[in-house]
Amino acid sequence: MASPAPIDDLAATVRQSVPSVVTSVVDGRSVAPDDGERLSVVNPADGETLLELETADAATVNRAVTSARRTFAAGTWSRTSTARRQAVLRATADLIRANADRLAALDTLTTGLSFSRSTRGQAHAAAAWFDYFAGLLEAQAGQTFRQLESAVTVVTREPVGVAGLFTPWNIPLMGASLKMAAALSMGNSVVIKPSEQSPLGTIELIRLLHEAGLPVGVAQLVNGAGAITGAALAAHPAIDLVSFTGGEGAGRQIGKAAAERFAKVTMELGGKSANIVFADADLDKALDGALLAAFANNGQACLAGSRILVERSIAERFIADFVDRTQRLRIGQPFDPDTDMGPLAMRAQVQRLQQFVATVADEGGELLCGGTLAAECPSDCYVYPAVALAHNHAATICQQEVFGPLATFVIFDDEADAVRLANDTRFGLAGYVWTSNLERAWRVSQALRSGYVLINTPMARERNAPFGGFAHSGIDREGGRWSLDFYSEARTTVMHHGQVPIGEGDLP
Ligand code: NAD
Repeated sequence: MASPAPIDDLAATVRQSVPSVVTSVVDGRSVAPDDGERLSVVNPADGETLLELETADAATVNRAVTSARRTFAAGTWSRTSTARRQAVLRATADLIRANADRLAALDTLTTGLSFSRSTRGQAHAAAAWFDYFAGLLEAQAGQTFRQLESAVTVVTREPVGVAGLFTPWNIPLMGASLKMAAALSMGNSVVIKPSEQSPLGTIELIRLLHEAGLPVGVAQLVNGAGAITGAALAAHPAIDLVSFTGGEGAGRQIGKAAAERFAKVTMELGGKSANIVFADADLDKALDGALLAAFANNGQACLAGSRILVERSIAERFIADFVDRTQRLRIGQPFDPDTDMGPLAMRAQVQRLQQFVATVADEGGELLCGGTLAAECPSDCYVYPAVALAHNHAATICQQEVFGPLATFVIFDDEADAVRLANDTRFGLAGYVWTSNLERAWRVSQALRSGYVLINTPMARERNAPFGGFAHSGIDREGGRWSLDFYSEARTTVMHHGQVPIGEGDLP
């Protein structure tokens, strides 16, 4: 019998290492409430229960936040030198790289995301964020002003306090790393709440941070249901800053809780991003790009180009080619390197997709392919990716985020029509433009009401640049120095070095 491929060995070994019960991590140790509710996390690839997740109650969340607050006040991390912080961040990056395959496998087991096409890349991106923020600290300088007579004004950045970090299941380790690396680089303590679907990679990340030298108590992790554990964290009075990545509904509730105590907030929410294909584009590249933008990460990406606007003169051919390529995508196991699309992350995701598919014909559109269960696969989380043509832009499939493999085509007549359609949405996360006309590319890109615009490329994340959305796609930005500003407070200090400047008549 042929020996199993190394990737299968890895999957089996990592699967065996998953504990049957997973709890929260406070001060580097597993903690669980006495009678916490348990959630089953199912591996979508085979439908088997992977682990039971103990939901942290308000008391456990309080324990995590109180300890993080204590370390912050004590200066355990908040008052360490930049050099020390850089060393820990860089050591963490090295450890993530050394453990990248195992970390990626953990995320694949919980989410069904492809090991070769998604989670392995995400693990390396996670390491890169730690290196990146360590490097950015090198050039982090305060500012000095001399506008006042006999005085020097100095502006420095101070850590905010305890950061509450919320991550979604589609980028578990990478999302956690982006937030934690930035928050820790500025000296904050953190309490992270991973998605209840995908806690494993983030638990490992906490362990690696400690191995890299982060003092115990600075980074805490609470696990559990969003409505219980997440709500308790969002409402905790000692959380000074909230960084949330997820959907509109949870974002709205967390934002309200944070507003009660004027906590700083970033929100990275969903999207319904337009992918505009003009007739003068390199159509082979545009086709590859459109497929990737719609179906990468099994179609579960915030910046998915899920609304494909195509110019009428090329529409028939382009859509036919897209459908043909979609039908040839290989559906299969997420650890199989030949798989183009694995299972959706959970059964609820499949039901959600099918609810959208059911609206297509009712609202005047045409379902061109997909949307049915891939019944030959080992669980009920595998679907054939769907493609629909909408004739009415008010249709549900043009306006709502599916967060699954459903690409919606809309045909446009000219540039103005394309821009109008692209902006006819409450979202504003990403926008894609495919054209060989440089002037048009620039004109259209600047007309899009989106926070992240990609010209002639499907997906690219520039670490130096801010990432986030207009309108319902979010509030404020993270990435690059925008993260450093967000995870710190500005302090202005005016130091006078002459005569005391208070004379008669100066006081009211
Ligand atoms: P979600 O909003 O359901 O959950 C996100 C996190 O919030 C999870 O940790 C969850 O447990 C927690 N949560 C849920 N309800 C809560 C509540 N009431 N109070 C406190 N916490 C709560 O999102 P999801 O299903 O995990 O992820 C999918 C969504 O995330 C999509 O809308 C997607 O577009 C978005 N997303 C956005 C970005 C971005 O950068 N803009 C990136 C990835 C995903």
